[in-house]
Amino acid sequence: MKKDKILVIGACGQIGVELTLALRKMYGDANVLASDLREEHELLKGTGPYVSLDVMNKEMLHVLVIRHNITQIYLLAAILSATGEKNPLLAWHINMQSLLNVLDIAKEENIDKVYWPSSIAVFGPNSPMMETPQHTIIEPTTIYGISKFAGERWCEYYNHRYGVDVRSLRYPGLISYKSAPGGGTTDYAVEIFHEAKERQEYTSFLSEDTYLPMMYMPDAIRATIELMEADASKITVRSAYNLSGMSFSPKEIAAEIKKHIPDFTISYEPDYRQQIADGWPNSMDDSRARADWGWKHEYDLAKMTADMLQNI
Ligand code: NAD
Repeated sequence: MKKDKILVIGACGQIGVELTLALRKMYGDANVLASDLREEHELLKGTGPYVSLDVMNKEMLHVLVIRHNITQIYLLAAILSATGEKNPLLAWHINMQSLLNVLDIAKEENIDKVYWPSSIAVFGPNSPMMETPQHTIIEPTTIYGISKFAGERWCEYYNHRYGVDVRSLRYPGLISYKSAPGGGTTDYAVEIFHEAKERQEYTSFLSEDTYLPMMYMPDAIRATIELMEADASKITVRSAYNLSGMSFSPKEIAAEIKKHIPDFTISYEPDYRQQIADGWPNSMDDSRARADWGWKHEYDLAKMTADMLQNI
């Protein structure tokens, strides 16, 4: 077991629950302190220490970091893309201030490593849609994407200027069955499995041919941990790495589900989220992550669909 003491902020969200459980396996239950605004998630109860924390309260966060001798921080608290569009100023405020609080405390307290996720939402309609490169036109049009892009620049700044070892991934849409998604544009790819099992039908809020980069949660958790475990000398991108698993459309995932549930039907009623999705890449080039720290995805659409339907 390693001696690190880890703080996970936003531990009760879609990623936080699974990441906290994975980190507890690696570092020991007592060494991973989970925190969130919400009540402790059912799946975390009894698995390790938990505190209630509002990451916007910098003083409280600072005290917590000192009191628990924290050496690594994973910041997962955020307002996601679809929710962000409903209250842009709030999304900007929370997404930026939470990161600045963490980066600044990491600098003050010489925290060993910080993890903060970015997103494919940093790209916009002027970015190349197919196999979007690591470095290209970045003109996000959602407030979520704008906050992620600004966050990436702050991460690189804190690394270059103050030596904070902060690492980041541009996650694609994440698909999981353990904890519910939190208001993103790719949430349809989780909902569809629940509806397929319960009602054998689903109405998609994205049109049938909307391709988006996606990833199954076990791959995302492994990518996060592999990035954080990599030797610092291998990390050549201090903003955020492109990360890719698979790319599919609502029509394609429906066809895959039909192989398991022949009666399943899908219909399409695109809403405001269609416009968000239309500005995002169809697929991502993550060759830099693969070259720098050996990233390799495991799950494709068929393997993920079989696993989701078995576990829901
Ligand atoms: P989520 O909404 O499911 O979870 C976020 C958690 O943060 C929630 O439990 C919420 O209660 C908590 N939180 C919110 N405000 C807080 C505050 N002020 N103090 C403490 N906790 C607070 O989100 P997620 O899907 O788990 O995403 C985690 C991170 O990954 C976010 O930065 C998100 O932008 C990024 N990301 C997610 C996806 C995805 O598909 N899920 C894709 C790309 C990037």
